[in-house]
Amino acid sequence: MPEDHPRLKRERKTIFAMQKIYCRDLHGLPGGQLCAQCQGLFDYAMQRLDRCPYQEAKPTCANCPIHCYRKDMREAVRQMMRHSGPKMLLRHPVLAVKHLLDGRKKAPAIPRRRVNEEA
Ligand SMILES: [Zn+2]
Repeated sequence: MPEDHPRLKRERKTIFAMQKIYCRDLHGLPGGQLCAQCQGLFDYAMQRLDRCPYQEAKPTCANCPIHCYRKDMREAVRQMMRHSGPKMLLRHPVLAVKHLLDGRKKAPAIPRRRVNEEA
């Protein structure tokens, strides 16, 4: 697998941090471990990132015109972020602020390959 761009590395870190907060608060596994369900969601998110046509130019997922998540996964990730998002500012202020800044960027007009038929 090619080396990730720093932007994507950070995105992976951010998602992992949020997933850990969510799992600890709701499922209570010790030692920052993810339960099977959360691990599954995290793996899925990482796989979507691998396949994201924008790669390092990607907008935040909330601003992305491509809806690449499966419907149930999209809902699961949204719930997870709704829970963990506000806590990120306290626990991981650097990641949180950088993600907020990313959120101000627009999606580039042309992805590397054509995936979006609905826009
Ligand atoms: Zn969990």
